[in-house]
Amino acid sequence: MKPKSVKTDDLSKIFSSLKKGDEAAIGSYLVKGVRLQISKYNLTGAERVQLLYKRRRAQGLCIVCGTKVSKKNPATGKLYRLCEIHRNKIDKNS
Ligand SMILES: [Zn+2]
Repeated sequence: MKPKSVKTDDLSKIFSSLKKGDEAAIGSYLVKGVRLQISKYNLTGAERVQLLYKRRRAQGLCIVCGTKVSKKNPATGKLYRLCEIHRNKIDKNS
């Protein structure tokens, strides 16, 4: 996972969500040349995949390939959870 550069001020935000047990705190951060990694311990493979999907979904990325999703579902007004390629492949079959 590529670390995200953060300012020292952002650390308090990250730590406060960590204190709340919020999964938003999970990530890899770069602060003043130091890498800070917050990750779940002892995840099963399935849990790891689930977390990855959740994170991608929250960032508006295709949950399968991580491509930025630009189209919104006209019914909900929210971004699709899949890119055009995967939406065509997966959603249309289900
Ligand atoms: Zn995709």
